Amino acid sequence: MTPDQLQPALAELDTQSLRRVRRVLDGPQGVRVTIDGKPYLSFSSNDYLGLANHPALADAASVTAASVGVGAGAAHLLTGHHRLHHELEAELAAFVGLPAALLFSTGYMASLGVLPALLDRHGEVFEDKLNHASLVDAAVLSRAKLTRYPHLDLVTLEQRLASSTAKVKLIATDTVFSMDGDLAPLVELQALAQRYDAWLYLDDAHGFGVLGERGEGALSQLEDRNDPRLIYLATLGKAVGVAGAFVGGSSELIEWLLNKARTYVFTTAQPPMLAAAVSASLRLIAVEGWRRAHLLELIERLKSGLAGLPWPLMHSNTPIQPVLVGSNAEALRLADALRAQGILLPAIRPPTVPPGEARLRISLSAAHSLADVDTLCAAFHALARHD
Ligand SMILES: *Cc1c(COP(=O)(O)O)cnc(C)c1O
Repeated sequence: MTPDQLQPALAELDTQSLRRVRRVLDGPQGVRVTIDGKPYLSFSSNDYLGLANHPALADAASVTAASVGVGAGAAHLLTGHHRLHHELEAELAAFVGLPAALLFSTGYMASLGVLPALLDRHGEVFEDKLNHASLVDAAVLSRAKLTRYPHLDLVTLEQRLASSTAKVKLIATDTVFSMDGDLAPLVELQALAQRYDAWLYLDDAHGFGVLGERGEGALSQLEDRNDPRLIYLATLGKAVGVAGAFVGGSSELIEWLLNKARTYVFTTAQPPMLAAAVSASLRLIAVEGWRRAHLLELIERLKSGLAGLPWPLMHSNTPIQPVLVGSNAEALRLADALRAQGILLPAIRPPTVPPGEARLRISLSAAHSLADVDTLCAAFHALARHD
């Protein structure tokens, strides 16, 4: 791309209904937001538990900022590793039942750090076709061979594992698929990883806080967490309501990563006040089970409320409830029509999803009321009648 190619390339994005625009948020993230100066009922954040604007988190952050300042000022391996980070890592490891954990600045950076720390061009990474972009980029950065298997197709995955001659193998998957809301079969994946002596990398960005009795995430499905092949990633900017990510696994794995993961070594530590906010959030996640129970109620209400529309809900039992539309232009048209009625929900288009599978991604939050869901369902039915 040269400078004079940018203008026509942007115009081409417009023709394909693929141009992205940013909307400016005033005030806090939540289910009622002010965007570009107008109020909306929003179904478009990943703040699944409604914690992003919780006073306990804001207090923890501001009290900590007042006592230790804002910036970490250095990388973790220099002087940026604050006691608050150190204690939070122990807390996170215990929360998910793994021996050790390491904090990263974002989930994207965590994956970009972990895969290249474990694999080189002699390795092979096996990924579900619908994995998050960060997992694909991480594999590319590692220079390992990248093999993608059809969504949830463990038969194909096993064939590829069986025929691989790579010295180091790694299976990477989203636990909850971010644009579909469905779940990966973790028990079966762990069995394959054990049979073929592969690492199993689980990206639980949308499961941590939401799944499991205490919000401990997708690992709640696994009996055997003492598996040295297990690498667990959770992000802290979604259900946790803060920012950042952590990787959990064996003590040896974590020790190796803190030495070798370049996105850990060569970056400034997160502000310690965020570690304090995460810690406050973990307490709420563990004890306020009503948030998860309420989400389940909202999911049921939405499913029955949207029945009979020309656009089907995809198969999901998580707070990610996508309405499949098909064409980019139609998805945009529906999102615009809902926005005109004060409802905000994003049209997800390629390359985020496969061509021809544009969708409206409803994301539910414990901060929604049943009446909010009813409002959304009524708006969809009104759109269907006008078609
Ligand atoms: C959001 C997301 C990430 C990236 O996490 P950040 O902390 O936002 O960088 C990684 N994987 C999945 C599946 C995600 O949805």
